[in-house]
Amino acid sequence: MPILVISDIHANLNALESVLQDAGTVDQVFCLGDLVGYGPDPNECVQLIRSLPNLVCLMGNHDAAILGLIDSSAFNSDARASLLWLDTVLSEENRQYLGQLDEMWSDTCVTLAHGSPRNPIWEYVLDSRTARGNFNYFSTPHCLIGHSHLPVLYFIDPEDNSLHLDIPADRQPVQLPPRALLNPGSVGQPRDHDPRASYALLDIEQNTWEIRRTPYDIAAVQQRIQKAGLPLRHALRLAEGI
Ligand code: ZN
Repeated sequence: MPILVISDIHANLNALESVLQDAGTVDQVFCLGDLVGYGPDPNECVQLIRSLPNLVCLMGNHDAAILGLIDSSAFNSDARASLLWLDTVLSEENRQYLGQLDEMWSDTCVTLAHGSPRNPIWEYVLDSRTARGNFNYFSTPHCLIGHSHLPVLYFIDPEDNSLHLDIPADRQPVQLPPRALLNPGSVGQPRDHDPRASYALLDIEQNTWEIRRTPYDIAAVQQRIQKAGLPLRHALRLAEGI
């Protein structure tokens, strides 16, 4: 059975529920961090994620910020405003849960990091040069990352050691190259101009990676963002997928 890979949920319960329903039954889940920040449902999302089967869950930069592990001045003003709000609503129990999350995880097949294996909490892999540099920082065949909110795959061609980028299409499983950096995109705040929630299925036995997109009730989330007094920009960007 494939492993469900989710990242950057950002307190968006409708998106998370839609992903879990669309994925169907899974017996293992990798969550690459940023459970909270931006969205209106931090407690509900942390609780739902905690209930998932055989969960490996990492800490993202927003999770680290609410714990005081990253200075909030490193964030832009809208993200900072949502962190201030989050601080007033996040339950002690969920705060403690976020506090015990690891920055990285690996087994013999796969390494997990929120941003990058070189700098797990903070580095964005947004270009080929950064991707290339990161291949020296994991020893497993594959490394799963989030943080950029873009469902992109970087891989090394074993023939000539060249680096390539692929953007897998919705529901088209791709064969895993021998070495790859794989991003499932963002559940709760996609930024590739496709507003649908993004996630991935990793099938170790079949050696495949499948990106899936699923729609959710964006208007309901926008209303709760507004009601909570969170920055309006966070509501608007959901509809645009930016
Ligand atoms: Zn994020």
